[in-house]
Amino acid sequence: MSVAIVYSEKYLEHVPGPGHPERPDRLKAIVEGLKRAGLWHAPDVEIFEPNPAIREEIELAHDPEYITLFEKLSAMERPIDADTPVHKNTLELAMLASGGAIMAGRLVVSGDVRSAFALVRPPGHHASRSEGGGFCYFNNAAVMIKYVKKEFNIRRVFILDIDAHHGNGTQDIFYDDPTVLYMSIHQHPSTLYPGTGFVSEIGSGEGKGYNVNVPVGPGSDDADYEGIMREIFLPLSEQFRPELFVVSVGFDAHIDDPLTSLQLSTSAYGRLADFVIQQAERMCESRVIFLLEGGYDLNALSGGVLNIMKVMRGERFSPTTEPKHPEVIDEVKLALSDKWKL
Ligand SMILES: [Zn+2]
Repeated sequence: MSVAIVYSEKYLEHVPGPGHPERPDRLKAIVEGLKRAGLWHAPDVEIFEPNPAIREEIELAHDPEYITLFEKLSAMERPIDADTPVHKNTLELAMLASGGAIMAGRLVVSGDVRSAFALVRPPGHHASRSEGGGFCYFNNAAVMIKYVKKEFNIRRVFILDIDAHHGNGTQDIFYDDPTVLYMSIHQHPSTLYPGTGFVSEIGSGEGKGYNVNVPVGPGSDDADYEGIMREIFLPLSEQFRPELFVVSVGFDAHIDDPLTSLQLSTSAYGRLADFVIQQAERMCESRVIFLLEGGYDLNALSGGVLNIMKVMRGERFSPTTEPKHPEVIDEVKLALSDKWKL
């Protein structure tokens, strides 16, 4: 079975403004890297062109009032915040990004492909139910997950968010939902936007214990992530038994990223994908959807996506380092000890 890339040239038309890091060159670098490596036209890789999501699909994850506000901001070209400008075409392109995520979800869940990478812009994980921000307008991952749960009767979804920033929007949307487990590894909120994602934020109501934040200090590297994946991701996913894995992939935890202070190597992205794909093979017929979030160094983006695609096609990435045991692992185990045996 082949793997899918979901991509539209129209994603290049999203231009937040001069000097903005979330720029079209990001996707150009990724696509050129895949073409250079021969993966874009490989026999087992299929490229799919998405349609925009429709309003009812966006409403699965967002308040109608927020969508209406966004429509008004689009007409007036008024920004959501200083980092998140709105132009005439922004609404349409944000709907196309969510549509790309939905398409990746449909392809994987219906069994047409083994796994999919949605190469979409604008990104989504900072968009909450009622608010955009941090370069994000609609939460592509959340819209897609709500969609596949409704249309395909998928019961349990595991989200792994490896963007350097905490996915405050995704956390917000699923905070009280025990059917969607959100796990995020991110640079510590006291040192980076958006300032959320503490270990103590573990979910509420029925969703208590289904929100797992693993904040890491500046300078954290491959060995820290290796330890966290072994000691938290593996037992947590084992016990939750998801029917689908969704990975919010930001490449801004890379050592060369200009916005953050983490130190992942390019091969770490292959290794992280390897963890998820091996779990998915054992648990849920290999169903994994990778969604592009942030990442602002062009070489880190193209090299990181390439390594993830290699793993999607069956290559394995062994650890290149002994795992470390950052203190946060014990904090997370303690905070979740009522719910999980980690
Ligand atoms: Zn980010």
